[in-house]
Amino acid sequence: MNIIRGAITVDADTPEEIREKTGELLRAVAQANDLSGDNLKAIIFSTTQDIHSCYPAKAARECGFEKAALFSSVEPDIEGALPLCIRVMVFAEGLKKKEKHVYLGKAAALRKDISAKLIVALDGPAGSGKSTIAKALAAAYDILYLDTGAMYRACALCLKRQNISPDDVAAAERAIGAADIGVRYEAGTQHTFLNGEDVSAEIRKNEISMLASSVAKLSGVRKKMVEKQREIAGTQSCVLDGRDIGTAVLPDAPFKFFITASPRVRAERRWKELKEKGETGIGIEELTREIEARDEQDRNREISPLRQAPDAVLVDTSDMTAEEVVALIREKIQEKI
Ligand code: C5P
Repeated sequence: MNIIRGAITVDADTPEEIREKTGELLRAVAQANDLSGDNLKAIIFSTTQDIHSCYPAKAARECGFEKAALFSSVEPDIEGALPLCIRVMVFAEGLKKKEKHVYLGKAAALRKDISAKLIVALDGPAGSGKSTIAKALAAAYDILYLDTGAMYRACALCLKRQNISPDDVAAAERAIGAADIGVRYEAGTQHTFLNGEDVSAEIRKNEISMLASSVAKLSGVRKKMVEKQREIAGTQSCVLDGRDIGTAVLPDAPFKFFITASPRVRAERRWKELKEKGETGIGIEELTREIEARDEQDRNREISPLRQAPDAVLVDTSDMTAEEVVALIREKIQEKI
């Protein structure tokens, strides 16, 4: 059994308006969660005390939701509460994915995190824990996670395969300009494609990391990738991680975080990650040096260098678990909402 919550406001306390808005809310709940009337087992409504003209349960029956057990109640009269509001708790069976709560009308303000478009920018150096945190945040809000580093890694792989050095700027930009680089999502997981081939695993190899950083210096490459990233984030709620999301890609993003950790901790995290993937040829000392060199290059490049946006919240994750970081970020987002 799944429980879906929702709310909607009515413009006036009339039976017609209550019927219309109750129907709108229930249809939106059903549509967002891929439910038919048969899946809805029980619906509990509550209304603010300024609603007198009709029970939402009666309105629901009149709108065709008569198969579910229906019940209405009245909320306490709390000062400052949103007026003319109908809240709902829907008990449903047969959901194929995580439930989607629905807040409509003025009630959208009650849960801006799930009813408005939510853009979260996470920037920071390699191994800071960004991707783990970004994935967990995206899952918690049930929104997309865009790993922008993967796109630069695909660019690096493109050059590697053609034996082109990023120092040969004209040839490198030409090759990447001609390549088809993009992302697709399967069951919520990002897959990165280079000319139609899924290269998600190959781009994770350590040899690609430094090359990606060198490719990411090129203005033609950045222009192409940033355009794609803005296109993706333009149409949906999204957590993006990278180096320049808060400073260059989406400078107006409402929620920005700069995630960091000490070089040693970052190297250890990367080392563990590589080990899990069977890449055991590199020691922690060497990885620390590599990470520092990559940071240096990312921080000092001319275009969109790795930098904390002035309005980003700094989070040092050296002594924090991923769960603690996610909880902290969610708290900060909630405070600002
Ligand atoms: O995050 P990841 O380690 O996969 O990124 C690989 C490289 O891609 C980084 O070192 C950086 O140079 C580049 N990058 C970037 N801008 C982004 C994301 C990654 O320049 N938004």
